[in-house]
Amino acid sequence: MDADAPYSQIVYLVFAPDVVGKAIVCSLARKFDLEFNILKAQITPRQEGAMTLELSGSAAAFQAGLDFLRDQGLKVSPAAQRITRDEASCMHCGVCTSLCPARALHLDRVSREVVFESEKCTTCGLCTQVCPVGAMQARIENGAEEAAEDA
Ligand code: SF4
Ligand code: SF4
Repeated sequence: MDADAPYSQIVYLVFAPDVVGKAIVCSLARKFDLEFNILKAQITPRQEGAMTLELSGSAAAFQAGLDFLRDQGLKVSPAAQRITRDEASCMHCGVCTSLCPARALHLDRVSREVVFESEKCTTCGLCTQVCPVGAMQARIENGAEEAAEDA
């Protein structure tokens, strides 16, 4: 991978009780020039915390940032994404089919409907950005949603 290439990934962080109160995530922007977007968080003083974070920057900065987080005692893992389609919303316009790199979305020539084969999906997320009716949706897994809902 080109170390300077733009890179974006969603990660799941677990904070031990002794590091929960520290402004570690803010250091990612200051020290590594990474942009971050907190998607979900459950942080309680003096208890274990969890956060789902989208990090964007260069690939090299991303790796350096993850090493920093681990050095600070955080557990870091990639957040699994699952892509689903809301069948009721899809109007079979075909916009997503030309973008899908995995050919998980394609036009059925007989029915003229767009078929979604979820087992081929690589969860790149491109279709969620272009679907005009928001039928393609990304769900973050790794227990992050459940943790936030309990907050
Ligand atoms: S872009 Fe959205 S509405 Fe159009 S075919 Fe794809 S999923 Fe359906
Ligand atoms: S997330 Fe990527 S691979 Fe999966 S259906 Fe959408 S465009 Fe295709």
